Amino acid sequence: MTTESRPKEQATQTAPVPVLSHWIDNRPVEVLPEHAGPVYNPATGEVIARVPRGGQPEVDRAVASAKAAFPAWRDMPLIARSQIFFAFRELAWKHRKELAELVTRDHGKTFPDALAGVTRGIETVEYACGLPVHLAGMNTPNVATNVDAVTLRQPLGVTAAITPFNFPVMVPMWILPIALAAGNTMILKPSSHTPGATQLQAELWAEAGLPEGVLNVVYGGREAVAALVEHPDVKAIQFVGSTKVGRYVYEEGTKRGKRVGAFTSAKNMMVVLPDTDLDLAADSAVAAGYGSAGERCMAQTLLVAVGGVADKLRPMILERIANLKVGDGMEPGVDMGPIYTREHRESVIKWIDRGVEEGAELVVDGRPFVHPDNPDGFFLGVSLFDHVQPTMDIYNQEIFGPVLGVVRVDTYDEAINLVNSHQYANGTAIFTTDGGAARRFQLESEVPMVGVNVPIPVPAGYLSFGGAKESALGDLPLRGEDGLRFFTRQKEVTIRWPEPGKRAALSLVFPGNR
Ligand code: NAD
Repeated sequence: MTTESRPKEQATQTAPVPVLSHWIDNRPVEVLPEHAGPVYNPATGEVIARVPRGGQPEVDRAVASAKAAFPAWRDMPLIARSQIFFAFRELAWKHRKELAELVTRDHGKTFPDALAGVTRGIETVEYACGLPVHLAGMNTPNVATNVDAVTLRQPLGVTAAITPFNFPVMVPMWILPIALAAGNTMILKPSSHTPGATQLQAELWAEAGLPEGVLNVVYGGREAVAALVEHPDVKAIQFVGSTKVGRYVYEEGTKRGKRVGAFTSAKNMMVVLPDTDLDLAADSAVAAGYGSAGERCMAQTLLVAVGGVADKLRPMILERIANLKVGDGMEPGVDMGPIYTREHRESVIKWIDRGVEEGAELVVDGRPFVHPDNPDGFFLGVSLFDHVQPTMDIYNQEIFGPVLGVVRVDTYDEAINLVNSHQYANGTAIFTTDGGAARRFQLESEVPMVGVNVPIPVPAGYLSFGGAKESALGDLPLRGEDGLRFFTRQKEVTIRWPEPGKRAALSLVFPGNR
C-alpha cells in the first residue's frame, strides 16, 4: 500500500471549505460545519467541501414544504408547467460544463465522461418538456347508454429520489423531470460522497421557475433515508444504488404502502463471438470495463469469450491498456480518473486479492499504481483477469472498480447460459458480425437492456431504463412511459349525462353496460 491511505482531513481541517446547504422552499438551509462531513477531491485526497448530515428534522421540514406545494403544482395548467421544463433545459444546457466540472471534482471521473453523463441527463428533461402530451389520459364514449368513461393520470403527491454517488447529475435528471412533470413534488436525497453538483441543479430549477417546495434537497445518509422511507406523507420513492440499501428501501417502503422502484447493483457480461470485428470488441471491452474507473452500473466487467476468441483479443486488450492514461479527471487526455473514495479503493484492491486467491490469472495488476503528481489521490491502475470461472467470487459479485475479467467458453449456448444464470441482470451485450446470432441473443437473454455491438447499452433518455433479478426491485423501470406510470395513479371516472328531458326508471339491479 502506498501513502494514499493517509487521511487528509486532519491536514486541511482548519482550511475554510464551503459547507453545502440543504435546499428547502427554493432557499439554502444553512448548516453548522460541525453538523457536516467531509467531501473529498479523489484526485488529490483533499477535503473540498462539507456536506450536511441531515436526518428526521430536515426530512420533516422538506416533506411539509413539498406537501404544501403539491396542490398548486398539481393544478398548474400543463402548458405553464411545461414552460418551466423548457427553461430548465436551456439553463442545464448552458451550465452543462459547470455541472460536469462539479461532478469531476468530487467523483473523479474525467471531465468529458462527466459531460456526457450530464448530456444524457438532459435528454430526459427534453422528454419531460412534452408533458402535456405524455399526460393525456383516455376518453371512451358510450360505455353504456349516456355514459362515458375517462381515464385520468394523476400525480401521487410528495415523492422522493435517493440517488447514488456515480451519476450525481444524470440520475437525478432521470428521475426528477418525470416525477415533477407528472405533477408530483419531490425530495432529492443525493449521495454524500458526490454532492457538489446538487446545489447548482436546485438553483437552476428555481431559476427556471419551479415554485417553492416543489423540489427540496436534503443531504444525509442512513438517518435521512430512514426518515424518508418511514414518513407517511412520502407516497413514492425511486432509489438508485446498491442492492443491499435498495432492498431495505424497497421492503420498508412498500411495507408502509409506498410505491418503490429500486435500481440496484450489477455485473454485466459482454459476449464476444469468434466472428466479431476484433478491433471493435477490444475497444469496447476496454471502454466499457474501465470507463469511469468501472464505477458504472452498466460497466461490462465480464467478457465472455466464445470459441477461442480470447487468444486473439487478449493481446489487443493489453495493447490498449498500455496506452491508457490514469490521472486527474480535469486534465486533458486522461482516460481514467481515481476511485471515488479511499475506502472504495481499498475494497477494489481486496477484490483483486480475492481473484488471485481464487486462482484467476491476473494479467494486469493495477494495485501498485501511484500517480506521480498526486500521491495522495485515490488512484488505482486498471486490472485484467483471464480464466475467470463462474464459481469465483470475482465472477459473482459486483466489484465496481476498474477490473475486467475474461471468461472462456466453447459455445454460444454456454455463454447465454452464463448471462441468464447470473444473480444480476442489468445490461448485457453481444459482439458479432452474425445477424442471426445477434437476433437470437436479443430474444434469449434474460436481461432487460441489451446491446448489439454496443458495449454500454443505456437506452436513450426518453426510453425506459431498468434491470431485473438482483439489479432491480419493483415492477416499473425508470424514465419514459414506465416512469410516468410509476409517478401517476390512474383514475377511472364513469360519467352519465342523461339525454335532456329523459331519465331512466329507478332500479336496484347492478348497473349493466348493454
Ligand atoms: P449506495 O447504496 O451505497 O447509496 C445509494 C444511496 O443510499 C445514497 O444516497 C446513500 O447516501 C444511501 N445510503 C447508503 N448507505 C445507506 C444505508 N446504510 N442506509 C440508508 N441509505 C444509505 O450506492 P452507491 O455506492 O452510492 O452507488 C453504487 C451502487 O449503485 C452500485 O451497486 C451500482 O451498481 C448501483 N447503481 C445502480 C444503477 C442502476 O440503475 N441499476 C445506477 C447507478 C448505480
